[in-house]
Amino acid sequence: LNRRLAEFGTTIFAEMSALAVSTGSINLGQGFPDTDGPEEVREAAVRALRDGRGNQYPPGPGIPELRTAIAAHQLRRYGLSYDPDTEVLVTAGATEAIAASLLALLEPGDEVVALEPYYDSYAASIAMAGGRRVPVTLRPYSDNGAEGTEGARFRLDLDELRAAVTDRTRLLLINTPHNPTGTVLTRAELAAIAELAVERDLLVVTDEVYEHLVFDDAEHLPLAAFPGMRERTVTIGSAGKTFSFTGWKVGWVTAAPELVSAVRAVKQFLTYVSSGPFQYAVAEALALPESYFDGFRRDMLARRDILAQGLTEAGFTVFRPAGTYFITTDIRPLGEKDGFAFCRALPERAGVVAIPNAVFYDDREAGAPFVRFAFCKREEVLREAAERLRHL
Ligand code: PMP
Ligand code: GLN
Repeated sequence: LNRRLAEFGTTIFAEMSALAVSTGSINLGQGFPDTDGPEEVREAAVRALRDGRGNQYPPGPGIPELRTAIAAHQLRRYGLSYDPDTEVLVTAGATEAIAASLLALLEPGDEVVALEPYYDSYAASIAMAGGRRVPVTLRPYSDNGAEGTEGARFRLDLDELRAAVTDRTRLLLINTPHNPTGTVLTRAELAAIAELAVERDLLVVTDEVYEHLVFDDAEHLPLAAFPGMRERTVTIGSAGKTFSFTGWKVGWVTAAPELVSAVRAVKQFLTYVSSGPFQYAVAEALALPESYFDGFRRDMLARRDILAQGLTEAGFTVFRPAGTYFITTDIRPLGEKDGFAFCRALPERAGVVAIPNAVFYDDREAGAPFVRFAFCKREEVLREAAERLRHL
């Protein structure tokens, strides 16, 4: 592996999922649902395969039906209008969208300000593009300013964000709802990010793959909808998360024409095109009635609550997530302080696999006490996991 990528070995998800299999543990590590998405969407994929739609190279930017469906979704949900021909690009999952965006928009040495903890592909993609990552750390504070207590939420310190931007900063890499903390950035936080981006003339890449997974009073607000942002923001979505088909690897980018054409130029040489038949199915999925999205959210909310209660009863400090598939916990109340050691031992101790949040930090110390559990699993699986964890 070359020097740019030497620090990136096997992803933690592959390592932990393999550990779950080899120990027969319940896998609350990697975020993938243990049930498939809607049957009619699977049927749509079968029909496309059978009818020979997309079995040969589809168009580079994605099939028109899917680009139109993505644009319609952004308009219907957020009032954001994108031209399917020039402002939408279909990618091989959000992962390719992230990598292609950074490869397209960064010059070597450019700085990228990203929220820490960050999803692991961000650091690797910035490195592939020859950029430098500059983390701004989210920290758990409650409304009354107490740090790390029950009821706390991982917050963005706006002064730290401002201080992280230098003359070498090219772009901000944002993620809301946020993996792994479960934080959904508030209107005030997003407005401050937008103001800063406009003031310093920065591009923004925003990973909104969990846009449909927001709970309680939280609301997902797309960064592209804030003043001055439409023309400088690359927004990323994924059918993997929204329709529970993580294996299909269909993602997308919406942005202004010159940004989309830059990302498209890179995508040509990464994958050339994305797999065809699934694009037809996802086009149909995006047109599902609101009741699908509501039901999906309600299901995940019920699962969050089962796991949150189980983890609380087992003695973890639980940071109740406002979004995503994930609950971040603090293991210090269990007398533990090293999330890595804890997660490596957990399969033997309890038959459960989780992810040490430290892998998402440059400052491993700062991430050490936090451990992430995925709740995108069947309720009986979550109950069994909670029962096992109670006997830690
Ligand atoms: N961004 C975030 C924040 C994620 O959690 C994930 C995947 N779990 C991805 C991107 C990658 O999405 P995809 O599977 O569509 O490549
Ligand atoms: N994004 C998922 C997670 O955070 C996993 C995706 C992957 O394994 N690359 O768990």
